[in-house]
Amino acid sequence: MAKAKQDYYELLGVSRSATADEMKKAYRKLAMQYHPDRNPNDKAAETKFKEISEAYEVLSDDQKRAAYDRFGHQAFENGGGHPGAHPGGGGFGFDFSDIIDEMFAGMGGGRQSAQANLRGSDIRYNAEITLEEAFHGKELPIKYMTPVPCDSCKGSGGEGGALPKTCTTCQGRGKIRTQQGFFTIERPCHSCQGIGQTIEKPCKSCQGTGRVRREKSLNVQIPAGVEDGTRIRAAAAGEAGVRGGEPGDLYVFVSIRPHRFFQRNGADIHCRIPIVMTTAALGGEIEVPTIDGTRTKLKIPAGTQGGHQFRLRGKGMNVFRRSGARGDMYVEALVETPMNLTKRQQELLKDFESDSKQESTSPQSAGFFAKMRDFWGDRGKG
Ligand SMILES: [Zn+2]
Ligand SMILES: [Zn+2]
Repeated sequence: MAKAKQDYYELLGVSRSATADEMKKAYRKLAMQYHPDRNPNDKAAETKFKEISEAYEVLSDDQKRAAYDRFGHQAFENGGGHPGAHPGGGGFGFDFSDIIDEMFAGMGGGRQSAQANLRGSDIRYNAEITLEEAFHGKELPIKYMTPVPCDSCKGSGGEGGALPKTCTTCQGRGKIRTQQGFFTIERPCHSCQGIGQTIEKPCKSCQGTGRVRREKSLNVQIPAGVEDGTRIRAAAAGEAGVRGGEPGDLYVFVSIRPHRFFQRNGADIHCRIPIVMTTAALGGEIEVPTIDGTRTKLKIPAGTQGGHQFRLRGKGMNVFRRSGARGDMYVEALVETPMNLTKRQQELLKDFESDSKQESTSPQSAGFFAKMRDFWGDRGKG
């Protein structure tokens, strides 16, 4: 069993009587705090972000909020309000979404029942791209197996394209109601499997479903600056509906492969570049690779310390859905201490050392050790 879910109001930190506006403010604040871009590699923050988003999705919708107030989390546990979320159309049985339908039937908000069963399922497609591809954007050709409308019956499911007839058992509702004491129980109609229609002579190619499995191909446009975890919807590219029902959608979930040099932080790019000790001490110029595939010159001032960050304006990622806008690039200097010195090099450095006044050439070290002496001195007295 999954662990008990936290109350949606508690998650957002609002009272049960909170207004839509208060809820929006609370959600925004939390979303900013836990957004995955602000908390890279933090699983706990990611989970929290999903939880608060789910809570807000429900509480910001008047109908869902009313259902939640009445039934709690159970109101949504059986696919309430997500047609197509269950692969293959979903199992029948007691379904809380029916309760929600009932509740709102008298309020003009009732959803159509039988037709919803004909809609094709949504498809998830996982695409992994490189950071460079995310920078430039790309047209991604994808191939996938999915039910498509049957050619022989033009998707109707009836032999020769004959149209299905309304089911006489349930009058097309797809459900049968029975009274048991106080309760009205609804079950899917067995004559039509809840579809609300029956076929006299099923099409032989598709056994009356109106669809057959085929490989489908599609070019998905991945926009420049796309972020890890972005979901791109290709409307109606999901599974074909049953017997001419509405098709589902295809969702491409984009994930971005880690890069050898660059780490992304929103629109900014971070990297660490080794700098030889003499360049760091004397100053100079280095060339650094950039995410757009070119190089850029970076001036290293004399006396650059390890860990110093240089900011290269406008050399970061393209900003998602903001044409022409780019983030910045941050280069962290890794000053490399020389190794494998020759005798002469060692002597040169010894000369350098004896010629140096530490307070002037290495003020940090000098200052640090002076402080350490004070520290131990105080300890000795205490
Ligand atoms: Zn029926
Ligand atoms: Zn057919």
